[in-house]
Amino acid sequence: MSSRKLSLGVKIFIAMILGIVVGIIAYQLGWASYTTTYLKPVGTIYINLLKFIVVPVVLFSIVTGVVALKDLRRVGSIGGKTFVYYICTTAIAIIIGLFFANVFKNLGWFPKLETTDLVYEAKSSDLSKVIVNIFPSNILSPLVNADMLPLIVIALFLGAGILSAGEAGQRVGSLISDMNDVTMKILMMIIGFSPIGVFALMVDVVAVNGAAIVGSLALVLLVAYIAYIVHVVVVYGLSVKFLSKMSPVAFVKGMSSAMITAFTTTSSSATLPLTIECSNNLGALPEVSSFVLPLGATINMDGTAIYMGVTSIFIASCYGVDLTLAQMATIVLTATIASIGTAGVSGAGMIMLAMVLESVNLPVAGIALIAGVDKIFDMGRTTLNITGDATCAMWISRLEKEKMAKKE
Ligand code: ASP
Repeated sequence: MSSRKLSLGVKIFIAMILGIVVGIIAYQLGWASYTTTYLKPVGTIYINLLKFIVVPVVLFSIVTGVVALKDLRRVGSIGGKTFVYYICTTAIAIIIGLFFANVFKNLGWFPKLETTDLVYEAKSSDLSKVIVNIFPSNILSPLVNADMLPLIVIALFLGAGILSAGEAGQRVGSLISDMNDVTMKILMMIIGFSPIGVFALMVDVVAVNGAAIVGSLALVLLVAYIAYIVHVVVVYGLSVKFLSKMSPVAFVKGMSSAMITAFTTTSSSATLPLTIECSNNLGALPEVSSFVLPLGATINMDGTAIYMGVTSIFIASCYGVDLTLAQMATIVLTATIASIGTAGVSGAGMIMLAMVLESVNLPVAGIALIAGVDKIFDMGRTTLNITGDATCAMWISRLEKEKMAKKE
C-alpha cells in the first residue's frame, strides 16, 4: 500500500517538473494559445472532479468526525484547540509577512509608482456580512454552491444532532459513515488522475505567464516566498517537532503529494482529499483529521495571511504611503479575519485583500498592481494553507493518542 502511495507522490512530482519544462518550451515557441486550448481543459476536468467530490467529503467527513468523537464535550475541546491553533499561526504568519515586506521597503526595493491609470476594481467585502453569511438560511444552497463555511455549520449541527438523538441518531450516523466510506473510494479514483491534471495545469501556467509575468513584480513575489519559507521552516518546523513530536523532514516528505497538488491547483478545498490522505498516512487519527482538516481548508489560511501582509506594504509603498505601527496592527487583525473568510478556491485571497486594504484606507484599486501575478502568489499561499492544517491535525492527533493511552 505505502509503495503505491509513494509512487503516486513521485508521479505527481515528475508530472510537475515535466509540466514546467514543457511549459517553458511552449512559452519560447509562443504556443500559449495551444496549451490553453488543448491542455488547460484537461487540468480543468481534474479540478472539476476534485471540486465535485469536495462537498460530500466536507459534509460526510465532518459529520463522521464529530460522531466519531462520541461526545459533544470532546468535539468542543478539540474544536477549541484547533481554532486557537489556527488563529495563532495565522497571526504569526501576517507578522512574518509584514516584517519581511518592511525590510524590503526600507531597503528601497519597492517602487513608488504612477498609479493613476489603474483600471482594476475589486469587490470589497463587508466584515459583518462575512460573519452573518456563515449561518445558512437554507440547507441546500451551501451544498449546491459549495459554500464551505455554511456547509461546515450544517455538518456540525448534523453531527451534534446525531450525537444527541440516541438510537435514531445512531442509525443516521451509521448511514453517513457508510456514505463517507463510499465518498472516500470515489476520492481515491479521482486522486489517481493527479499526475495528468498536475501536468496539464503546470504546462499552461508556465506557457501563458512565462518569465515575463514575474518581471517587475519579482521582488514582491520574492518577499512573499521568503516569508512563506520562513513560516514553513520556523512555525511549522517547531510545531511538528515540539507539538507533534515528529521529524519535520518526514512530515514534509509525507505531505509532498498534497503540497504539490495545492501548488498546482491553487485550491485548498480541491486539495483537501489529498491533505486528509497524506495526514492519515503520517499517523493522524482519522477521526481527528476528518474534523480538523476540512475546517482548516476553510478557515485556516496562513499563506493567504502572509500574502495579505506583504502586498499591503507593497501597495502602500507604491502609493507612497508609510503605514504606522497601529495601522500594521489593524492589518494583523483584519487579515486574520479576512483569511478566515477566504474560500479555499483559486484567487479568493486576492478578493479578500480588498477588506484589508480598506481597513487602513489604502486604495482597493492597488490590487491591480499585483493582480497579474496573483497566480504565482496563490501557488505558494495555498501550499502553506494546507500544510498548516496538517500540522494542526498531527498535533491534535498526538494529544488524543496520549489521552487514550492514559485511559488504558
Ligand atoms: N487559493 C487559496 C486556497 O485555496 C486561497 C487564496 O486565494 O488565498 O487556499
